[in-house]
Amino acid sequence: MRCIACNRGLSDYEATRRHSTTNEFIDMCNECYFEIEETIASIEREDLMHPDDEPELHTGPVSTEFNGS
Ligand SMILES: [Zn+2]
Repeated sequence: MRCIACNRGLSDYEATRRHSTTNEFIDMCNECYFEIEETIASIEREDLMHPDDEPELHTGPVSTEFNGS
């Protein structure tokens, strides 16, 4: 099973993520799903979740240039 967006191999957790209304498998890796998760609600098999499946925070380097005050 591979991500339909980037073709990366999916973990069990990623591969079993379903759309919450259509109940269809979304078949997207965490990174790609992260981009759409606010528009597609899903049912996730949290029992299959591994630490590796934690969504990476897309915050990037935190700006520390707030030196005022
Ligand atoms: Zn992907």
